[in-house]
Amino acid sequence: MLRPPTTRVAVVVPTIGRPSLDELLRRLATSTGPLPQQVLLVDDRRERTRPLVPTTPASLAGRVQVVPGGGRGPAHARNVGWRRATTEWVAFLDDDVAPTGHWLADLAIDLRGLPYDVAGCQGHIEVLSPTGRARTDWERDVAGLESAQWATADMAYRRRVLRSVGGFDERFPRAYREDADLGLRVTAAGWRIVRGSRVIRHPVRPAPWWISVRRQAGNADDPLMAMRHGPDWRQSAGAPHGRFRRHLVPTTGLAAAVGSAAAGRRRVAHIALAVWIGGTAEFAWRRIRPGPRTPAELATMVATSVAIPPVAVYQRVRGMVAARRRPPARECGAPGRAADAVLFDRDGTLIVDVPYNGDPGRVTPVAGARRALDRLRAAGVALGVVTNQSGVGRGRLGLGAVDAVNRRIDELLGPFDVWAVCPHRPADGCGCRKPASGLVDEAARALGTDAIRCVVIGDIGGDVDAALAAGARAILVPNAATSPAEIATAPEVASDLDDAVSMVLAARVGP
Ligand SMILES: [Mg+2]
Repeated sequence: MLRPPTTRVAVVVPTIGRPSLDELLRRLATSTGPLPQQVLLVDDRRERTRPLVPTTPASLAGRVQVVPGGGRGPAHARNVGWRRATTEWVAFLDDDVAPTGHWLADLAIDLRGLPYDVAGCQGHIEVLSPTGRARTDWERDVAGLESAQWATADMAYRRRVLRSVGGFDERFPRAYREDADLGLRVTAAGWRIVRGSRVIRHPVRPAPWWISVRRQAGNADDPLMAMRHGPDWRQSAGAPHGRFRRHLVPTTGLAAAVGSAAAGRRRVAHIALAVWIGGTAEFAWRRIRPGPRTPAELATMVATSVAIPPVAVYQRVRGMVAARRRPPARECGAPGRAADAVLFDRDGTLIVDVPYNGDPGRVTPVAGARRALDRLRAAGVALGVVTNQSGVGRGRLGLGAVDAVNRRIDELLGPFDVWAVCPHRPADGCGCRKPASGLVDEAARALGTDAIRCVVIGDIGGDVDAALAAGARAILVPNAATSPAEIATAPEVASDLDDAVSMVLAARVGP
């Protein structure tokens, strides 16, 4: 029987080490359907005092990979995850969701044969209802996920689309609006996002009674959404209309009451007080009406309804100020963006590849390398070399020999502003060996810049993947050792070093 090819998927889970992660892995392992090629767990704890050691079921052994996220929030963690993925599709899951017993089979059906212009496929989210009573305010808040558009609790995107739009905007610091922002950018670029058939259950986690006040922090993210997508962004993103305008009524009433009382204008103060009480009462009743009217819920609704309007207004104003001050989106290095530095692969890119060479006498620069490097130097671009030298870890050559070869390259093609060398074997599992991002990050740091302002030029897929994992721009200069697949999947391909340098410098030309 001819089976349709299985779609290659990486599952990316940003995690803060919740116990639910083990249950999620167990459910993935026991689900019917094809296993994902990679399960990338991005450890997003700020304090990583202990390593994240998930209980990996046997069937997922060799597929689960824990990568450091840096504690910079879910948008960054997801970016780290998908940049490590090597598959066509990336399926994002939250670390506390429970996929059904056939989630993987449904995912495979959802993704198989999707037309080229479909960039994403969203799963169904179920939030269990309590039995015998109405949902509380907090439970209704979580249940909003069921109808949310593009929620990343279960969302699959094509990796090349994530790459082309630069992934998640890391200026959204919390798990709020960052998924709608991505969906809006993807659809604005002409792609479609469809709904699939797979289902996950989302829990209602225990929360303190003031959770609804804390959730008002999300108001600070709305001005950035309006700046990026225009005032009608809620409509395009299918987001419910907020209550912000209504929150202005009691907040203004409260401020006017306090102000006019202080000024001795009692009549105005009384009117303003009535506006505040009326606005607050209306808001509280709206929240009490659909819920269980237990004494605890009633007390919570009254107390938080007093606090929410002014807190929401404060957060919105804070967001408006921050949106103006925020730096441009931190996205992948891309064509058109001026580069601070260009990081070159060594063997096969700058010099003719002689495997495990420890002899300076056998160093031969690639034709045109000197001229290409000098063009960059003349333009004021910093230059670095990022090179895997696994011959050291394998015992084939010493670090001294690698240094001697590098010194010879410096004589012929230098000076270089930074050298970053990985001496490990592939089996060592280090974070520096390309295709991991370590060497690129290290070189960028040493140059006082960020990887997103760097370009990596190399001859194989590992160079490209290391660049993308770090958020840098990648240009492939193929040679006889480069495979057709590596050429086909590279974001940019140059015919030779000079051509690659022209592509780098093109971003600097113009107004
Ligand atoms: Mg190479």
